[in-house]
Amino acid sequence: MCPYCGVGCGLLVQVRDGRVAKVKGDPAHPANFGDVCAKAVHLPPILRTADRLVHPQLRHRRGGALERVPWELALRFTADRVREIVMAHGPDAVAFYASGQLLTEEYYVAAKLARAVVGTNNFDTNSRLCMASAAAGYWRSLGSDGPPAAYADLDVANCFLLIGTNTADCHPITFKRIRKRKLQSPDAVTVIVVDPRWTETADIADLHMPLQPGSDIALLNAMLHVLWREGLLDANFVAKHTSGWAQMRAVIERYPPERGAALTGLSPEIIVTAALRFGRARAAMSLWSMGINQSHVGTDKNAAIINLHLATGQIGRPGAGPFSLTGQPNAMGGRETGGLAHLLPGYRLVADAAARAVVERHWAIPAGRLPATPGRSALEIFEGLASGAVRAVWIMCTNPAASMPDLDLVEKALRQADLVVVQDAYHPTETTRFADVLLPAAQWPEKDGVMTNSERRLTYLPKLVEPPGEALPDTVILTRFAHEMGVKEPFQFASAAEVFDELAALTAGTVCDYSGLSHDRLRRDGPLQWPVPAPDHPGTERLYQDRRFPTPDGRARLVAVEHDEPLEPVDASFPLTLTTGRVRDHWHTLTRTIKSPALRSRTPEPILEVNLRDAQRAGIQDGDFVEITSRRGKAVAQCLVSAAIREGTCFLPFHWGRQSGFYKSANNLTLSGRDPISQQPELKACAVRLRRVAEPPA
Ligand code: SF4
Repeated sequence: MCPYCGVGCGLLVQVRDGRVAKVKGDPAHPANFGDVCAKAVHLPPILRTADRLVHPQLRHRRGGALERVPWELALRFTADRVREIVMAHGPDAVAFYASGQLLTEEYYVAAKLARAVVGTNNFDTNSRLCMASAAAGYWRSLGSDGPPAAYADLDVANCFLLIGTNTADCHPITFKRIRKRKLQSPDAVTVIVVDPRWTETADIADLHMPLQPGSDIALLNAMLHVLWREGLLDANFVAKHTSGWAQMRAVIERYPPERGAALTGLSPEIIVTAALRFGRARAAMSLWSMGINQSHVGTDKNAAIINLHLATGQIGRPGAGPFSLTGQPNAMGGRETGGLAHLLPGYRLVADAAARAVVERHWAIPAGRLPATPGRSALEIFEGLASGAVRAVWIMCTNPAASMPDLDLVEKALRQADLVVVQDAYHPTETTRFADVLLPAAQWPEKDGVMTNSERRLTYLPKLVEPPGEALPDTVILTRFAHEMGVKEPFQFASAAEVFDELAALTAGTVCDYSGLSHDRLRRDGPLQWPVPAPDHPGTERLYQDRRFPTPDGRARLVAVEHDEPLEPVDASFPLTLTTGRVRDHWHTLTRTIKSPALRSRTPEPILEVNLRDAQRAGIQDGDFVEITSRRGKAVAQCLVSAAIREGTCFLPFHWGRQSGFYKSANNLTLSGRDPISQQPELKACAVRLRRVAEPPA
């Protein structure tokens, strides 16, 4: 399976002389049927680069140099420091920050280590920047996390609402499947694209709706108002399978299309047309990603999307359903293992005493050992480090000093920490610069394990080549560390397969039950979608076909939600809204994709997209270098002036961190304001101003 995005494409990998020589699509994998994008094809050159981290390194004192040390010393030093910090400040002075790139087994062992060995729920991941609002939205509306729909639904849907997603760039193989469906039946299939930018995704749209950034709830409520007024709701479904209609109706009554138009900047006519197309569809799907989730009302936006489906009965049947497109390859697996600060394995909540007791018994640890209070979310970890409440952080497989909002705060946090441990495949990165301990990790495909893609499908990834130097699989590193901390019995794993078996048994009886799976079965039967509750169970294509939801009364919840302006509105000093995102040829913070000559040559630098009227007002021409200033900092990029982005809005990709050139980083500008439910930051809207500069800064 591809180690990049949540589409989760299956790959065929040719190995020659112990090296990955060639990668192509696996025709047998149901996520992609042989198709792949350029990022996967260009995997070979990024695996053995000069900056692979191949030995443990240690900095004995702050300001000193990192020195190569044996594994034993690196782990003993780390264990001694963690013990000292826990003794002096308590277990919550230690935090772990992991990644949706980890394999499921690695996630599981890391979260178990934090909770059972250190005794803290301060275990969060970069999924907090990515899918936390979708997870919280599913919990609130449907009673549990877990995308209900499947890729197979893309082949039979006849209306697609693509909102807050540039699917063509960020989930290219999913987009090709939607495009194929549209081209096969152009008159029978409607594609609605809601995005302030005209991207390649909009090329297949019947309706492109370039709304004001952040106004998605106003649009979705107004669409629901139209459907209600036109008698296009499924009254039977609403009455039998949902709760909350009266409260929601009271809210949507106040969102006629005219008000929706005033709040979104769209016309009332296009809102009505979109609503009628959705409401009259035999089977409608909504697909979304960061444009919805990265918002201070991200959870509410998810509720507004799910409301549309519940009110029209468009869920739990072929071609219908809300379907969040996961950013990372194993963000889903992370959530299944308890990879967020409020979760335990099997979508259990740390605040649930009965759930903690189940996990304690399964882990054979003393009753009451697991802490009962949710830990710090991603941003709270770094804020805690900056304030001194958290003294140590262990970062795995991610680069927060490039990917987090408000980088000055993140750098301050890492500088002030008593202990920074970074476990990564590459060095230097923006984050490894701050490490006291550097632990070399094996990466794809130097270890085996499982990942779950956007459609709940688990794929087994075999080990194909040896890791370089002394790099080790993350599971081995974490297990050795647990032993160094004196905790041996619960960490006796001879293989990743044994880790998976322990987790799979713990999912039994939960929504994400895959107790019927093992490495052997996934190797034999191929990728399968959970729930898979028994060894002979064939897997589950879509959820909620029985129209029973995992809430106390079995009904899904219609959640009344209101429009709210972005946290940082524009004003005379900062007149434009900046939105950040990805480009097709790069992945996250460039630790891998920029090292592929082909990918680098296609997209070597960040480009700022500006509307031509905004450019005119600022005296900027296409190709000029532009300084972008927000209340937190500056960035500089060459600009592309066009009509493809909504007036008042500009776009800058976030991949480039300060290591690429200080002023290339979009996260110099972004703000750390966040959703109070999901704790996901509002990376999609901050106020900026532009100024032409003669040349890029050195
Ligand atoms: Fe990999 Fe995503 Fe491209 Fe598929 S679409 S090959 S999973 S990056």
